[in-house]
Amino acid sequence: MKEQYADIIVDITHEKLDRPFQYQIPSELKGQVQAGTRVKIPFGEGNRIINGYVISLGSRPRYKPEKIKKIAEMAEDGITVDTKLIMLATWIRHTYGSTMIQALKTVMPVKDKQKTKFGRKILLNVNQLQAAFWLEEFRRKKYKAKIRLLEALLERTELTDEYVSRELKISEESMKKMTEKGIIRMVQLTVYRNPVEKLDVLLQEKAVPDLTAEQQKVLDGILREWKVGERPCLIQGVTGSGKTLVYMKLIEKVLLKGHQVIMLIPEIALTWQMVQRFYRRFGSLVTVLNSKMSPAERYDQFERVKRGDVQVMIGPRSALFTPFSRLGLIVIDEEHENSYRSEGTPKYHARETAIARGKLEGAHVVMGSAMPSIDAYYRCKQGHYALFQIKSQYGNTVFPKIYLVDMREELKKGNRTVLSNCLQEAIELRLKAGEQVILFLNRKGYASVISCRACGHVIKCLHCDVPLTYYNNGRLICHYCGFDREELRSCPKCNSPYIGGFYAGTQQVEQMVKKFFPKARTLRMDADTTRGKDKSERILKAFSAEKADILIGTQMIVKGHNFSKVTLVGVIAADMTLFASNYRAAERTYQLLAQAISCAAQRELLGEVVIQTYYPEHYSIKAALSQDYEAFYEKEIDSRELMNYPPVSNLLAVRASCDREDHLQNAMDYIRRYLLKIKRKKDFQLVGPAPESIAKIQDYYREVLYLKSKEKQELIRLRELLEHYIETNSGFASVHIQFDFNV
Ligand code: ADP
Ligand code: ZN
Ligand code: ZN
Repeated sequence: MKEQYADIIVDITHEKLDRPFQYQIPSELKGQVQAGTRVKIPFGEGNRIINGYVISLGSRPRYKPEKIKKIAEMAEDGITVDTKLIMLATWIRHTYGSTMIQALKTVMPVKDKQKTKFGRKILLNVNQLQAAFWLEEFRRKKYKAKIRLLEALLERTELTDEYVSRELKISEESMKKMTEKGIIRMVQLTVYRNPVEKLDVLLQEKAVPDLTAEQQKVLDGILREWKVGERPCLIQGVTGSGKTLVYMKLIEKVLLKGHQVIMLIPEIALTWQMVQRFYRRFGSLVTVLNSKMSPAERYDQFERVKRGDVQVMIGPRSALFTPFSRLGLIVIDEEHENSYRSEGTPKYHARETAIARGKLEGAHVVMGSAMPSIDAYYRCKQGHYALFQIKSQYGNTVFPKIYLVDMREELKKGNRTVLSNCLQEAIELRLKAGEQVILFLNRKGYASVISCRACGHVIKCLHCDVPLTYYNNGRLICHYCGFDREELRSCPKCNSPYIGGFYAGTQQVEQMVKKFFPKARTLRMDADTTRGKDKSERILKAFSAEKADILIGTQMIVKGHNFSKVTLVGVIAADMTLFASNYRAAERTYQLLAQAISCAAQRELLGEVVIQTYYPEHYSIKAALSQDYEAFYEKEIDSRELMNYPPVSNLLAVRASCDREDHLQNAMDYIRRYLLKIKRKKDFQLVGPAPESIAKIQDYYREVLYLKSKEKQELIRLRELLEHYIETNSGFASVHIQFDFNV
């Protein structure tokens, strides 16, 4: 073995993470020491023996070899949960590319220097009669927060601190006052409770309803799968089909075995109702993480987990790294959601990373979606995941009526607004009936695509089948291959002068609605109105309390929020996601439309959906209309096959930015030539470089180059070669380079 040195961190909770120490691996330990291994090392002046974690191995000494200390021995407690998380960080680093430190910080939140707050639990300190008295009193005085707390305590006599402050939003002040009055009692949480014992009690109290035959079949199927193999399982079922009930049954099974559960849900679906449902079922065994928490807050939560206070963690992407030592199951709800891709570095995907963690720790992975991602469904078809389907919705939900409006016809009729006549009439009727309306818009990634509003023709690249994007310099550019052409004055297909970007945003739509329906009460939900804590939740709550007639928004179809009065959903421009310059555009479009349609499906009322589009013949729109996922999948996978996109192939994006355009182009040129040089021996396809769809951000120019290969390992290997090449050439010093794998 050449690897004689190990980088070791001595405290994984601190900023010291940034400073690994190099040690020699003594010959008797070679082959035993790997990333994650806990070892004893002599440390500091006095060579005090302390514990450390190996984070990586290497063959090159960073100092004079004789000056590098030796690892003393392996620590006796061998594999800890941190060992496993370090191994996961290694996997993330290897797969997505980043530094080991970045990967470690992703899986382990850093402890703050301030002292950590300990968790408490809040208990009811009075009997039922006294509680009823106080409740009356608070109601009279309209002490809303105190009422909330007391009501919650009457339902369950004990609550966690988290729940009280985060969910019930009770201030420290109110709690103090109630403690002084002797109504409640606060107890420091330090005792380790036996979760299984507690669970038995809960299970008798509030059982999940009996499953329908179809749901039961899925549950049995998954349990059978768990016995034979370790394939991830995917439940495909429309909203309301009972996927969450199946998750709950699975969670029960896992908890009863003494194992723990992570349940990932998209941030936007992490609503009060959703969490409430799990609290009711699993009580204080459950806790919630949200992405607004700082690393220090996340650290505190994770400490509670390590103490054994919690057995089920519900949260967005980052909850995946909850340090459970006996992890038994990871559930990923709404598996297709975009928010499972990390935006920062490393750009990991939560689904793949969950599967990797599951493999490392012997935990099952179960995902669910009404319209699975193409990636996941492809893996099912290939037999890598096990697929289970629930076809029917629970109860008698009425499928909405769907109208498709060809916006090219509207223009011919002289209507140049973003609301078709059909949609205007439908809104009018719903307002008269006192029912609610949702208007859907997804501005992102659309404005720069150029299309003809008379015939729907989209100006595309001659080589790539992606739309050209408009740049400030007046040229249209393909962001996949760099092909460019002059701006157009008229449509090359029909000669209409109405060619250009589609600039309607949520604000414009709101103005339009107000003009047409001055009496309607509107709410707008987009990036602007939801800035700040709990804003989106507040808007959604107001809407579900019928405080508005029309909700206009970009991304608001939310699971857990049931708008039972919404009987009309209008999709302002269905194709606006279709022509985003990204190979997943059709997939996004299908998902969005299918979601919009399910939003108008109600128990008692017959809903309507009006879909406006310039491109009614596109397969993703056609398939969404007939709710035919399978048909959409077949078309989409053909196109991915043809163009060599994931999941059929793998795609590595090399993204570079620099404040000097010439430096950037020079750097990309070097990278390209380097790749071409090694290409002779390798099996991959090289596309670009070309400007990014946003070619300049804050004076930084941006370019991208794509590598495609059927072999995932091939791309990982190329990335490693590139990383080395870039690191060892000073010419790249001023250029920031980043890798995206299959995003
Ligand atoms: P999904 O997660 O697929 O959207 P849910 O599990 O949330 O579906 O179920 C939707 C609604 O139908 C919930 O209110 C749930 O309680 C109810 N439901 C589903 N299946 C059953 C069942 N077998 N018995 C009673 N209620 C059910
Ligand atoms: Zn045209
Ligand atoms: Zn092109």
